[in-house]
Amino acid sequence: MRVLVVEDERKLGQVLAAALQAEHYDVVVARTGDEGFFRAHAEAFDLIVLDLMLPGRNGLEILQTLRRRHLHTPVLILTARDGLEDRVTGLDSGADDYLVKPFAVAELLARIRALLRRGRPPESLRLKAGDLELDLVTRHAVRGDRLLDLTVREFELLEYLLRHQGHMVSREMLARDVWREPRRATPLDNVIDVQIARLRKKVDTDAGERLIHTVRGVGFVLQQGEP
Ligand code: CA
Repeated sequence: MRVLVVEDERKLGQVLAAALQAEHYDVVVARTGDEGFFRAHAEAFDLIVLDLMLPGRNGLEILQTLRRRHLHTPVLILTARDGLEDRVTGLDSGADDYLVKPFAVAELLARIRALLRRGRPPESLRLKAGDLELDLVTRHAVRGDRLLDLTVREFELLEYLLRHQGHMVSREMLARDVWREPRRATPLDNVIDVQIARLRKKVDTDAGERLIHTVRGVGFVLQQGEP
């Protein structure tokens, strides 16, 4: 389980990292709002512990942007004792839980365990091929440790290819089932090819193995190993 801790107080960040590592979590600590923002968008985490008062981009801004982009990673916010308004705004903005500073580390660990139990979708709501994984609940697409930044259409396309893993998918099928166009047309074929090229770039660049293959004159297939 990977946890991102966004906390600018050096001492507290160290204490939290040590406590989480002792519980065998893989921990990344970001010390500024900007660093937290970029890591939360570029990498896949199972949970984020987010301080609200941060230099640069504050915690609420980070949270609101994540949720606007449909990233549903559980977020636990840390707020100051007098920050009732922040707490309310935080929960309204999509935080899953909060703790008021100062808090006991044991309490934080208990809350994290509870959120992770709640947040993990059943296996059937995830699609996998090698180190590529799609979470249909959070709409996360992950290749290895890398969170893929996909558009809504790209996600749908990848989901379709994964559901037909190892089987040929024709442009006709994509037009009908992903674009919902009953009739096949040349302009649409071109759009499909462009979208596949973009998707392939995001999925297969910098990855160990190519997953999306073109079969000339027929269509596409997603699978491990050459078709
Ligand atoms: Ca702070």
